[in-house]
Amino acid sequence: AMRKAMEQGLFRLHYQPQVSLTNGALIGVEALIRWTDAELGQMSPAQFIPLAEESGFIITIGTWVLEEAVRQATLWQSRDTPVTVSINVSALQFQQADFVETVAAVLKANGLQPRLLELELTESILIQDAHETMNRLHALAALGVSMSIDDFGTGYSSLSYLKKFPISRLKIDRSFVMGLPDDEGDRAIVSATIGMARGLKLNVVAEGVETEAQRDYLASLGCESFQGFLCSPGLPAEQFEALMAQLPK
Ligand code: C2E
Ligand code: MG
Ligand code: MG
Repeated sequence: AMRKAMEQGLFRLHYQPQVSLTNGALIGVEALIRWTDAELGQMSPAQFIPLAEESGFIITIGTWVLEEAVRQATLWQSRDTPVTVSINVSALQFQQADFVETVAAVLKANGLQPRLLELELTESILIQDAHETMNRLHALAALGVSMSIDDFGTGYSSLSYLKKFPISRLKIDRSFVMGLPDDEGDRAIVSATIGMARGLKLNVVAEGVETEAQRDYLASLGCESFQGFLCSPGLPAEQFEALMAQLPK
């Protein structure tokens, strides 16, 4: 069904804003894949991405996402409303021998400033074959794209990679934000993550912020930005543009 959906052009990207916790300004946007199937209905990426990873079809999906997100980012760049677009990169995709070349080629073909693309990597990518991973991350950094760690703290947190790798942001997973501000364990994990990030000169994005109480608590800890339903879910490009126009500059 995924192969058929790709042939029929049924995949779309939605865009979820990332906003500043100090002034509410837009600081970036995450591209999230969406698939509405004629027979199967609305399919959640949490369901089909793991299957695509197992079957290898994630390579085709990942390339499509890269091209589509860069095309959209280039359109916003050309309209003088540049916004950094983050895409999710799967481990299998990152490990392809030509991954760096593909990213470089897509940026060049579109004429997108590399700083307007961010790659969201998972901890599972960063613990693999350290030498090759390091080379690849440095090659991507040399291209000028930025990189973040998605779902930080939920995978294999080897903290040593944080000081070695050219990463600019940590994304605090929704599972730690959910219990804020009441849950003692979540408070400890989130404040430690923000403190550590500050020491390492990394920015922090909190994911899955749904309430004002969560937002205010994160702001009090000095977290830079958040993403979540409190601001907006992922939206089709045109709806995101309407929201972008309303956010403080
Ligand atoms: P993720 O990258 O951590 O993305 C964040 C997920 O949290 C998204 O779910 C988003 O819609 C959801 N979310 C954001 N704010 C809130 C909130 O306030 N409350 C709640 N309850 N949820 C919130 P989504 O779009 O279903 O994606 C799930 C996961 O699927 C993503 O997690 C990512 O790992 C993967 N994924 C999505 N798009 C892609 C893609 O293009 N490529 C790859 N490789 N993976 C993708
Ligand atoms: Mg993500
Ligand atoms: Mg995440």
